[in-house]
Formats: sequence, structure tokens, C-alpha cells
Amino acid sequence: MSCSLIAEMEMRGSEDVEMGQDITPPFPPLSFSLHDSFLLSHCSACFSPLPLRPTFPHIPLPLPPYLLSYCSPRCSSSDSPLHFSSAEFHLLRSHPSSFGESSDLRAALRFLHSLPASCRSVPNGRLAGLLTNRDKLLARTGYDEEFVERIRDGARVMAAARKMREGYGSSEPNDFVLEEAALCLVLTNAVEVQDDSGRTLGIAVYDPSFSWINHSCSPNASYRFFLSSPPPCCAQARLRIVPCARHGLETQIESGVCSISELSYGEMRENNGPKVVVRSIKRIKKGEEVTVAYTDLLHPKEMRQLELWSKYWFICCCRRCSSSHLTYVDHILQEVSPASLQSSSLLSGQDIYINGTIESLTDHINDAITEYLESGDSESCCKKLEDMLTQGLLYEQLGGREEKSQPVFKLHPLHYLSLNAYTTLVSAYKVRASDLLTLYSGMEEHHLEALDLSRISAAYSLLLAGATHHLFQSEPSLIASVANFWIGAGESLLTLARSSVWSIIVKCGLPATNLSYTLSKHICSKCSLMQKFIAILHHREVQSTDLENISSEFFDCVTNITQTVWGFLIHGCQYLRAVKDPIEFSWLGTRKDSSTRDIQPHLGSSAVVSYHGDEGSFSVCEAHTCIFQVGVHCLLYGGYLACICYGQHSNLITHIRNILDPEECLINRFHETDK
Ligand SMILES: [Zn+2]
Ligand SMILES: [Zn+2]
Ligand SMILES: [Zn+2]
Repeated sequence: MSCSLIAEMEMRGSEDVEMGQDITPPFPPLSFSLHDSFLLSHCSACFSPLPLRPTFPHIPLPLPPYLLSYCSPRCSSSDSPLHFSSAEFHLLRSHPSSFGESSDLRAALRFLHSLPASCRSVPNGRLAGLLTNRDKLLARTGYDEEFVERIRDGARVMAAARKMREGYGSSEPNDFVLEEAALCLVLTNAVEVQDDSGRTLGIAVYDPSFSWINHSCSPNASYRFFLSSPPPCCAQARLRIVPCARHGLETQIESGVCSISELSYGEMRENNGPKVVVRSIKRIKKGEEVTVAYTDLLHPKEMRQLELWSKYWFICCCRRCSSSHLTYVDHILQEVSPASLQSSSLLSGQDIYINGTIESLTDHINDAITEYLESGDSESCCKKLEDMLTQGLLYEQLGGREEKSQPVFKLHPLHYLSLNAYTTLVSAYKVRASDLLTLYSGMEEHHLEALDLSRISAAYSLLLAGATHHLFQSEPSLIASVANFWIGAGESLLTLARSSVWSIIVKCGLPATNLSYTLSKHICSKCSLMQKFIAILHHREVQSTDLENISSEFFDCVTNITQTVWGFLIHGCQYLRAVKDPIEFSWLGTRKDSSTRDIQPHLGSSAVVSYHGDEGSFSVCEAHTCIFQVGVHCLLYGGYLACICYGQHSNLITHIRNILDPEECLINRFHETDK
């Protein structure tokens, strides 16, 4: 992608657009490649997972590593010619494994091959209109030697492969300026292609109409990929954005640059590779610049700046980055607080000390997460993360020489590291619950323990969604994250409510229908979430006022029900007991307009732990009903937001409908088999 400041190109709305509209047709990629680790498991032409045993080409497994795998004869016949003619084949065959990841080199080779001969010079540092950034990237010589070496070596390997394809044997190429430019272009413009589960499969380079969209940390658009053909409504979308020179009025593309239509962009390639569609997530006025995010919007400012600088070589000057005080969201995302009032005296003016603390906290949390991902030891991960969240860091962990082993700093419960920790805890507790159920399938006491673990997993997912929602209220561009977290919370809560273990606790016997709650049996008399969700499934247009209304209806309803059941959900979990409400955060006493470091103790030992709902008189049946209701609210609201971000026909929406009403889904399946 091109970038602010260096790009000079931008895209603007060519008409007024409401939120939740596709503003480009699906763009096929100019070049794309799977990451090395997916070459044997996914189709190299369409990125879809391969059937267990790939049938094309008909070569006994394992395939030699330089042959790509395809899911179908169609994919094979449309892509394998390019695999050979671009010299990707030659590169893979001669590629030294010590070189590491080859996807950027392969994408660059494919890109070069589709460039017409007339475009093979690099005027103004652009190829086919796309910025190469070659001069900037190679200028890192001196302090990022490894990076520069990789570009130079990569270009040499590419040039050698191209020579080999032309039949010059393996003679050393003497000039690889073009290869360098293509590789830099890929490094600058390629986007990571994700599947529905958010896994990054590979990279792709797209049309300038996409690549010229600049970054903002508070963007008004987002993009999504289609690995298979997009649904008709999306395929018919018009291009509603126009290119514009950043500091001028003319929309003329610089002369001396070949236009995209000159690329050999023929029939064959139209069907290949993951397509991308850009969608408005806010209202965009005619003439307003359209922006997307190149980095994680839930990272605090300094971290985003660092990521953008090291990857794209620019300093972000968006509204969120350039305001004279940190925005509320950026302030919260990086806030640490002293663990007790006594230690707050240590704080004043000791910025270096604080920076060291944050570094140390980051390391401890990231280590625990990495260790979990590598070893799968979910129990030790839960303990480490919860200790860190509850106690903060101790002097000794900071390398302090003081004798006392008192906690010094704690993360704000909405700090970005806390959010990362919650994400991991949701998964780790869920894994522990399902491990218990598999290991001791016939033993009642283990079933109860598994239910406890699922309960805590669901509580963390609710806190994660509530915390992100709190930030979303000040930063509307977080809509996609908040949609995903609400859906995750809804799914966890409904899975919990539908667990068969409930029948063990309630010896008195739950009504049978309670265990198989379905959508048709849920009508909330206090809100119109269900009607609004069904309406958005059938209508395309959403106005920002609709979103405001549904958000406040949802918020009122869900905070009410949550208050009665939160104490039950978090029972036995030390960290969560200090979280008085997972959605409504006024108990934190944070000041919205605060621009200074907030050093109030938040979760210190003196904090009074209060419960909403009296556990004694609160019946398990009631808790069960509340969990179901909160779950349905979360799913409906998350689904509404997901319609805005991803469209009504996204797989995520189908997934939500299946969870909400498994019976309806069953009925649909019967209908399908009848046909
Ligand atoms: Zn395929
Ligand atoms: Zn920014
Ligand atoms: Zn309601």
C-alpha cells in the first residue's frame, strides 16, 4: 500500500456514502502468493484449503517442494502456467532453504511477469502506478543492514531464477534493479490475506485504486477478502472512490507511468487469487479522503507509530495521532497504575522507571502467551496471566534490589496488554474445560469443574467485549474488533447455557426447554434488537443514527441483565472479582477528558470487592436464564455490527444464525437434502 506523506496519491469518495456500503467492486489481485507454511495445505490459486489428499497434479505425495498444489483442475490450469513462466518454479527449485520465507519473492516474480515490456522501467519510483519505495528501503543501510541485505539477496535470487527460466543456466545475473524494485513494491504494497478465522494465509498486491488508499488510525473504511467468488450483490458494487493527487486538485495519474489496464490482466487471471472489497465503516462525504488501517487499531499510539515506521516508512499524522493530548482511547490503552497508594509517591517524575516497568510487563505477558501457544499448558498460562493482572509486577521482577516483595505497578483493566491477556484466557479456560470433559467423560465431579472453567472463559469473553465496546464508544473505527468480540462473547455464553452439565446441578430439574433454548423462544420485551437484526439482514442501508439507537438499547438491556448474573459468572476467580462490571466502566472512575497520567489505584488491595446480585438467594435457574439472555443480546448486537463491516452475506452472519437457532439450521438442512 502507498502511504501518507511519501505517496502523494490518495482516494476520495466520488459520492456521499452511508456506513456499511461496498465502495469498490471486488478487485482481483495483480499478484499473490501463499506463505511457505501453507503451500502444502492450501490451493495456490484460490487459497482455499485442499482436500485431505490433493488430487492435482497427479503426482504421488509428498510433492516436491517446487510444485504447487491446487484444489481443482480449473485452479491448476489457470495458475500453473504462471508458476512456470514467472520463474516461481525455478526459484522454489533452487531456493536455498536457509533464506527463509519466500512468499514475497514469489509474489514479486509473478508481478514482474505480468508487467508489459513497456512498463519495465521505474519512472518516479513507481511500477504500474504503484510506489516501489526502493530508494527509501535501501537507504536503511547502516542501521538496518539485515533488512537491506535481504532485499539485495532476494533480488539476486529472483534474477537468477528468471535467467534460469530463459535458459541461461545458473550464470550470475549482473543487474537486478528491476527485481529490487518489484520486491520493494511487494514489501510496500502487499496486504496480508486472511481467511474467515483471521489466519494469515499469504499476501497479495492489488490495483492502485486499492493500494492508493492511505492509512489512518481512525479510518472510515475497511477491506475484506473473498477466497471464493463474492455474492452477487457484492460483485455488482460500483467503484465509488476516485484517485486524487494529494496536494493538488487534478486527478491525472502521473505521466510516464503505464496504467493498470496495460497489465496483462487477462481472462485467466480474473478468476484467480483472493479478491478484495473495500467497505465504508463510517459515513463518507463526496470528496472526503477514504482511509483504511494498516495496523492494529487496538495498539497504543507509540506502538502503532513504530509498526508503521518499520513496515511502511512513514509517520502517521492522522487525527488520532496528531492531537496535542493523547486521545482518551490511546490514553487508556497504555495506562499503568501503582498497585497501592503508598507506592504512588515513587511515581512522580520517574518516567524512565515507568518505561522500564511497561517493558517488563509486556515481556512477562507476551512470554506467558507465547509459552501457552507453544506448549499448550493452559493451566500454567492461566495462573501466570492472572497473577500478573491481579498483583501486577513485583519489585524483584523489575530487577529491583529492594527487600520488600510488594507489587508496584498494575495494568489498567483496559490496557492493550490486559485485552491481549483476556483473549488468551478465554481460549485457555475453554481448552481446560474441554480437556476435562474428554479425559473424564463419565465422572460427575469433573463435569462440574468443567462447567466452572467454561463459566470463567465466558466471563472473560464478556469482559473483553465490554472493554472494547467502552473504547469503541469514543473511537467508532473499532467497529470490526468490537463486532468480533461481542460475537465471541455471545457464542461462549450460549455454549455455556446449552451445556448438559446444568442438569447435574439443578437436581430439582430444569424445564426441558431450558436446555434447548432457541431463537424463537427468546423474545426480549425490553428491546428491539431481534427485529433490528432481522431488518438489517434484509435491508442494505444503515444510517449512523440507527447504529446509535441500537447501541444504546443494547447497552441498557445487556448491562441490566449482566448485573444480576456477573457475580455468578466470576465466582472463584480472583482477578474478575475486582471487576465490578464488565460492560459499564464508571466504577473505574476514569475521567473521559483526561490527558494526564491517571494514578488512581484501580484494582488495589484496598478496592472494595462488591457483588451485583446476591448469590445466596439467586437461584441457579435464574442464572441460567440470564446467561442465555445476555448471550443472545451479544450475538444479535455483534451480528448487527458485523453486517455493517462485512455485509449481510458474510460467513460470519451465517455462523451467527446457526448458533442462534440450531433448529432452524437443522430444518434448512432437511430442506436441502429433500431437493
Ligand atoms: Zn483452488
Ligand atoms: Zn495515526
Ligand atoms: Zn433486550
